[in-house]
Amino acid sequence: MVFVVIYFVVNKTSFTHLDNDILLEKEEVFNNLDWHRDSIIINKMPEWDEAEHNKVEVNPTFLQIVDITGKVVFHSSNLLKDQFLFNPNIEQEIFYNSEIGEQKIRLGQFPIKNENEKIIGYLSIAISQQESYSMLNNLLWVLLISFPIVLIVQFIASSIAASKAIQPVHRLIKIAAGISDANIETRLVLPERKDELFELTNTINELLARIEISMLQQKQFTSDASHEIRTPLTAIRGTLEVLIRKQREPKFYEEKITDIIQQVDRLNKLLEQLLQLAHIESGVAVAKKETLLLFPIVDSFQTKWEEAASEKKIALHLNIAKDIAIVADKLFIELILDNLMSNSIKYGKENGNVFLLWNDSLRTLSVKDDGIGISANDLSNIFNRFYRADESRSSIIKGNGLGLSIVKKLCELQKISLTVESTLHQGSSFTLKFNAK
Ligand code: ADP
Repeated sequence: MVFVVIYFVVNKTSFTHLDNDILLEKEEVFNNLDWHRDSIIINKMPEWDEAEHNKVEVNPTFLQIVDITGKVVFHSSNLLKDQFLFNPNIEQEIFYNSEIGEQKIRLGQFPIKNENEKIIGYLSIAISQQESYSMLNNLLWVLLISFPIVLIVQFIASSIAASKAIQPVHRLIKIAAGISDANIETRLVLPERKDELFELTNTINELLARIEISMLQQKQFTSDASHEIRTPLTAIRGTLEVLIRKQREPKFYEEKITDIIQQVDRLNKLLEQLLQLAHIESGVAVAKKETLLLFPIVDSFQTKWEEAASEKKIALHLNIAKDIAIVADKLFIELILDNLMSNSIKYGKENGNVFLLWNDSLRTLSVKDDGIGISANDLSNIFNRFYRADESRSSIIKGNGLGLSIVKKLCELQKISLTVESTLHQGSSFTLKFNAK
């Protein structure tokens, strides 16, 4: 495109140049023309004798004047026997290309008018465009030859530049292709220049770090889960071995089988919670947004909670008014409340209290107890899977450390914020903050 534009600009410039020369010549000739009615009177000018009007060889300027009938009334001597064709009945000045003999010429045709503005003849001025023709011709050849050369040079240069630019990408591909589970800790080497490639490498490194953490968590989870499953299985196996060793009293069998049933229940609870976690984390679980009355939910669990509380003589204070409504998923909120309340009863002290409190202005629901509490150290970890605070691990209270991680995940799914406040040996309070209706 650049080449085409160059050619046309030069072409146009050379024609404008020639046309300006013709116009200058026309001015001179018109200054020496006169007319009488319809006839043209040509005054003798010193100009006529100039070589350019006489000779054909050096920058010739050809002149021809015809009257209205088309008869030539004057022509410069360099025209010899030639005569320009002229286009009659044209009132404007026109410029066009023509040829005289072998020569390419630029021709201007101008109407000659008398004092009444009537056309009485035509003046034709032609100048040779041989020079600009050969200049344009040369330019055309130069452009045509240099075009493929420029193209080839540009292709080679850009190929070299592209292959240089792509080299670091190849390096990255090579390192990235070699990363697997076994060497997930490998990171891509950051390029020196801080460009898009730097950003990309950095982003891939961050992604690798996240994958590494998630893989470690996965491994940890598998080993924790196996450990949790193995504990009751070992206990069951041990009890069964004791029973099979020799004949026992029926009472002994009764005791040991009750132990085994407890261990099986524990296993059952663990598997149920693992399935819940897997379901939540698989992304299949979607939180519904339902407007729910809190009272019926609490009411449906009341008997279960009271039974558990009565074992430790804990007083339950479920102060939930009948008209409190929240926006949440019914099944999820039941799981959350049951987990929090069961924990407060489990970790509550004998003859203690457990409160379920609704704050209408803040739209918060708190589960509060005056039990064993949680140390500041443990507080940041209790939502991790399989984590149990030292106090509970050493106590006889049964659990597997999955309840709160399920609660946390369910809150996240419903965008309910969950906070905990606790003081060791004084009690804990878990608070859910609901969004406005
Ligand atoms: P689990 O109760 O089965 O051990 P959770 O995930 O429900 O598992 O709780 C994790 C840990 O958090 C518990 O082991 C316990 O140490 C601590 N915890 C939870 N709730 C309370 C509470 N109300 N009071 C004191 N400690 C608690």
